[in-house]
Amino acid sequence: DGATSDQLAKKLKVKLKDMIDKCLDINLLIKSGDYIGIQLANEIAALYDYRAENVAFDEDKVIGKEQLSDEDKSKLPLRNPIIAIMGHVDHGKTTLLDHIRNAKVVNEEAGGITQHIGAYSVKAGKSTLTFLDTPGHAAFASMRQRGADVTDLVVLVVAADDGVMPQTRESVKYCNNAGVPIIVAVNKMDKEGINPDRIKSELADIGITPEEWGGDTQFVPISALKGDGVDDLLESIALQTEMLELRASDKGNVEGVVIESKIEHGRGPVATILVQSGTLKKGDSLVVGETFGRARSLTDHLGKQLSKAGPSTPVQILGLDEAPSPGASVDVVKNEREAKKIVANRVAERKKLEETPKAKVSLEDFFAMAADDGKETKELNLIVRSDVQGSFEAIKQAVLALSNSEVEVRVIAGGVGAINDNDVNLADSSGAFILGFNMRPNTTARRLAEEKSIDIKTYSIIYELINDVTLAIEGMLDPDT
Ligand code: GDP
Repeated sequence: DGATSDQLAKKLKVKLKDMIDKCLDINLLIKSGDYIGIQLANEIAALYDYRAENVAFDEDKVIGKEQLSDEDKSKLPLRNPIIAIMGHVDHGKTTLLDHIRNAKVVNEEAGGITQHIGAYSVKAGKSTLTFLDTPGHAAFASMRQRGADVTDLVVLVVAADDGVMPQTRESVKYCNNAGVPIIVAVNKMDKEGINPDRIKSELADIGITPEEWGGDTQFVPISALKGDGVDDLLESIALQTEMLELRASDKGNVEGVVIESKIEHGRGPVATILVQSGTLKKGDSLVVGETFGRARSLTDHLGKQLSKAGPSTPVQILGLDEAPSPGASVDVVKNEREAKKIVANRVAERKKLEETPKAKVSLEDFFAMAADDGKETKELNLIVRSDVQGSFEAIKQAVLALSNSEVEVRVIAGGVGAINDNDVNLADSSGAFILGFNMRPNTTARRLAEEKSIDIKTYSIIYELINDVTLAIEGMLDPDT
């Protein structure tokens, strides 16, 4: 009971491009490959005086472009790994990032001056490694909360004279949750009277066991201050990330994420975008979170002007209307007029939801009802946010279908648009989980979620979202049934 936008256009005997344009007129952003549920299909069909009936449901297509077969995936070009540095305060993250940047970023053209754009790339053997240039646990945690799970590998810096500290533990927890592999850099090895074995056993206690003790984590002793061991560290990173065989298409839809943004005097809003898939080109019209514009220039971390940027390339762009929030997703659209329209819709959708507190009230009613009937069934309440109506419907149908005799899945709120304050408040009062699909929290919602410790999960692959919900349900099942 659904189909992709392409299939629907075919059924309606119109060009997809035509249908997309027509949908925009009713404030609907649809892309090729989007899943269209029956209800939405009917709305679109009505634009052409058709009625949609049982449009073929094609499971593969629901998942869309992201879900390539393993064989297809293995044909995509390799991309550079994205590396983040984490660890406790004062353990040497900044010193390490600075050392790598100064020692390894070679700038043949502009005389060695590197620009801080939020990320940089360095050569290590035949690999090129892209480092996120934002140390510190807080920056990272909030990046993650915005859904910007862009990191392929984390270098966990642990000072040999201090050992495992609270933020070391938090970093490990983050990596475990996100499934990101770790390499431990045992730092400050130049100091007197330190005992690296103590560091190893402290980390082994929290599940990070060194290879030489039969575990699977590489430990590299370094001095970020003096530079000792940093080459070994880079080599270890290169080797481990080569084994991950990271791939991304440089063709097709551009997917990217904002890693840093600011307003610069005389230049206006500047944003550093990390392209994750596809190729961003100079002149592209962009929708970035709740702002839009045209990529007037692309600049790399060496200050070099680029005409395009493929996967794993961080570029600073000029030409946006406002500074987008870090973590915002990047879409390339047909033209600026369309971009403006989409952003206006996003903002309007968000405002509309923020202004209607009725979801909360009805939820309380619902709880009262649930308490009254004394049913045994547990409920898993979800708030789902998505970039387009099509994927929202697809997700909703898929998660509702996961309900079983013990756990009932409910989508209590959501829709198209960024995760907003209202969603966070609702999650807080109802114990619901917030799931974003190609959607991340806006700035204020992010802050609110941090304050209230509401976990927001975001996905760009429907399958992964469904999988997580499945796991949550399994976690709720009665152990003795
Ligand atoms: P961050 O908070 O993790 O970013 O830590 P910093 O990079 O700011 O380092 C904290 C302090 O430790 C600074 O005074 C650094 O100079 C010092 N530091 C960092 N790495 C080393 C090292 O390898 N050896 C020594 N002796 N000091 C270091």
